[in-house]
Amino acid sequence: MTTTIQPPISPPAGVGRIRGLQCRECGQMYPAEARHVCDMCFGPLEVAYDYDVVRASVSRESIAAGPRTLWRYRALLPIEGDRVVDTHAGFTPLVRAHNLGQTLGLHNLWVKNDTVNPTFSFKDRPVSIASTRALELGFDVLSCASTGNLAGSVAAHAAKAGLRACIFIPSDLEEAKILGASLYEPTIFAVDGNYDDVNRLSSEIADLYPWAFVNINLRPYYSEGSKTLAFEVAEQLGWRRPDAVVVPIASGSMFTKIHKGFGELDKVGLVDDARTPRMIGAQAEGCSPVVQAARAGTYDVQPVRPNTIAKSLAIGNPADGYYALKIVEQTGGALEAVDDDEIVDGIRLLARTEGIFAETAGGVTIGVLKKLVAAGKIDADEVVVAYITGNGFKTMDAVAGQVTLPLHVAPTLASFQAAFHPGDRGGQRGA
Ligand SMILES: *Cc1c(COP(=O)(O)O)cnc(C)c1O
Ligand SMILES: [Zn+2]
Repeated sequence: MTTTIQPPISPPAGVGRIRGLQCRECGQMYPAEARHVCDMCFGPLEVAYDYDVVRASVSRESIAAGPRTLWRYRALLPIEGDRVVDTHAGFTPLVRAHNLGQTLGLHNLWVKNDTVNPTFSFKDRPVSIASTRALELGFDVLSCASTGNLAGSVAAHAAKAGLRACIFIPSDLEEAKILGASLYEPTIFAVDGNYDDVNRLSSEIADLYPWAFVNINLRPYYSEGSKTLAFEVAEQLGWRRPDAVVVPIASGSMFTKIHKGFGELDKVGLVDDARTPRMIGAQAEGCSPVVQAARAGTYDVQPVRPNTIAKSLAIGNPADGYYALKIVEQTGGALEAVDDDEIVDGIRLLARTEGIFAETAGGVTIGVLKKLVAAGKIDADEVVVAYITGNGFKTMDAVAGQVTLPLHVAPTLASFQAAFHPGDRGGQRGA
C-alpha cells in the first residue's frame, strides 16, 4: 500500500528481465509489486526492463511461433510465471482501408480493428496483463474504476481467472455496457457521479481493501498491455512502423504505451529503421482537456467536466495527459478534437466504407483523422494507422435515428415492387 513509506529495495532475485517499477519523474526504483505512485515525489511508476535480457530472448521468429494472441509478445510484458489469464485477446486484424483512404485522400491508410476482442474493446489487452499479474501477486479480488469498457473486460477476466470482481462505474453508463459486464456476475457499484468521482472513490477503497484495482494499484502492469497495439501493427506491416498513428485519448494510458511499444521494438532489435511514428491524439470536444492544453500551448492540463456521447473517453482529469502532450511534441504529432455530430459521422463513415461498426471512441478517431487530413496535417502518402478501440454494439444510442429504416413489405412480389425504387441504395447495388 502506498501509505507506508518503505525504503527502496532492489527487485527480488530471479526476475532478471523485469528490473522493477521505476518512477517516471525521479527515476527511483521499486520492487515489482502492487504500487503505482513514487513515495519520494508522487510521480507515476512504470515497469522497467533489462532490454539486454529481452533482446537476447526474443526474435521475429520466436514471436511468429507464438500463439495468435497478445501472449506472443510475453517477452516484452511484465509477467513472471507460466500461468496467464488467456481470453485470446489481441492479434486483431490490421485492415487495409482502401475505401476510407480514397474518400479521405490517403493512399496508405490502415485500420487496427480492436472491436473484435473477447469483450469487444482494446481493454482486454491491459486487463489480460493486469489480471495475470494479480494472480502472481496473490490477490483474490479484481477491481476497477471504469468508463464502461473496462467493467466488462475486468468481469470477464475475473471469471476466467477464478477471481472475485468488484467494479465501480458512473451510474449513467450505456445500458449495453452494464448488461454486458453483469453477465459475468461481478459485483457492480454504480456511483452517482462522473468517472473522475468514481476514480477518486476507488483510490480511497484501494488504500483500505486488499483488492487488485487494475487501473489504480496495478496500473503499471495494466498499462503495459497497450504496448501490444504497437507490436502487432509493426508485425502486421512486415516489421515496419507506420509514419503516423491516430489514437483516442481518455486517461492517455493507451496513447503513451503505444508510443513506448514502438520505441521498445527498436530497443530490442525487432525493427531496423530508426524513426518512431508521429503520435496523433484524438479526443471528443466535450471532454478534451489534453487538446485544450495543446491549443493553449501549455503542458498544464486543466481538468474539465465531461459532456460527450463518447463516454468511454470521458475522463476530465487524465492521469497521463502531461506525458501525452510531451510525446506529441517529441514525435511531431498532433492533437485534435471533434464534436458529437462529427463523432456520429465518423462512425457512419467507417461503417459504410470499411464494414466496421465502431463505438463512439472509434468515431472520435475517424473524425479527427478526417479533420487533420482536410487541414493538411497528414500527408496523402504517409502510412497511417487509425486505432479503432471499441465495438459499436455497445453504443447503439449514438446512431439510433441516424440510419435508413427498413422498407416494410407484405410477403408478395407486388408489395416488394411497390416499395422498391431502383434509385434507392439497394437498387444501385443490385441492378
Ligand atoms: C478506455 C478506452 C480508451 C482510452 O483509454 P485510455 O484511458 O486513454 O488508455 C479508448 N477507447 C476505448 C473504446 C476505451 O474503452
Ligand atoms: Zn519519484
